[in-house]
Amino acid sequence: MFMQYFSGMATVFMLHSIHPVDSNKISLNEKLNISPDFLEAFIVSAKAKGYSFISLDTLHDALVNNKKMAKSMVLTLDDGYADNYTNAYPIFKKHNIPFTIYITTSFPNHTAILWWYILEDLVIANNSITLSDGTTYSCETPEDKKTTFSAIRQKIIHLPKENFIDSLNALFEPRVIDWYSKVAELAMTWEQIKELSLSPLATIGAHTVNHYALATLSKDEVINEVMGSKQIIEVRIDNSVEHFCYPFGGPKEVTEKEFAIVDELGFKTTTTTRNGSIFAEHKHHLSALPRVMLTSEFSLLRFELSTIKRFVKGRIVVA
Ligand SMILES: [Zn+2]
Repeated sequence: MFMQYFSGMATVFMLHSIHPVDSNKISLNEKLNISPDFLEAFIVSAKAKGYSFISLDTLHDALVNNKKMAKSMVLTLDDGYADNYTNAYPIFKKHNIPFTIYITTSFPNHTAILWWYILEDLVIANNSITLSDGTTYSCETPEDKKTTFSAIRQKIIHLPKENFIDSLNALFEPRVIDWYSKVAELAMTWEQIKELSLSPLATIGAHTVNHYALATLSKDEVINEVMGSKQIIEVRIDNSVEHFCYPFGGPKEVTEKEFAIVDELGFKTTTTTRNGSIFAEHKHHLSALPRVMLTSEFSLLRFELSTIKRFVKGRIVVA
């Protein structure tokens, strides 16, 4: 009884890449990855503990119609990595798990700059990196590499988005970098996305065109990024796209201002990277639903205990 009350109605989990863990990688990117074995073990143990996996539409229906719901989980995967299709989809089919993939349309269009993977390779391959603004970052120890990755990541996120590629090139001068080198290898194709969209288990959501932090854009640019991706996906899958997810959904990358803009755009739900579970009151915050990141350190037992703490702090986590 108490657990049900404290845990809220459901938890929306955020996943990214699903591939075997690479011990050579040291940066934050590996936090965005879980192994296929880990994903399957998580599903099996959650089911054994009485959790059920539901779609975003089912969650939305429960919220807007004040339906009772408990111990429910929603799996969402951000960006549109090819391994979602090759590694995760077979597991979802095997266990009959609904899932949502939020597509950044520049990924399958192969115009995406996956700078976070390119930056990771740079940090791994070098002992130091000097940027054109004169700052030098050490990459000697694994700890240095992590700190440097985070520091340069912050710089890139907040670069001006007009002529983004020029700003990136200028930042790394005189180094010459092929910023488009990763996308063909890592992105799901439109054929795969179309195939997924035909599965009753899959929901295809939108995740902008270029994966910019929306807080760095003007209102018109935000609308173009969000609605552009929605329309491109709808044409490709010949179906409507009703769910959206903010890129870099932290407090500096998306603010109340962007929540208000997206709130007007007619999506059923929008999710952030703010940490928290879903409570009945979230029916009034459908354009800023919190999620919980599913990392390889995730423990179901710890998760169940932490939901009690969230109640003490305040039941609704919207930002
Ligand atoms: Zn993303």
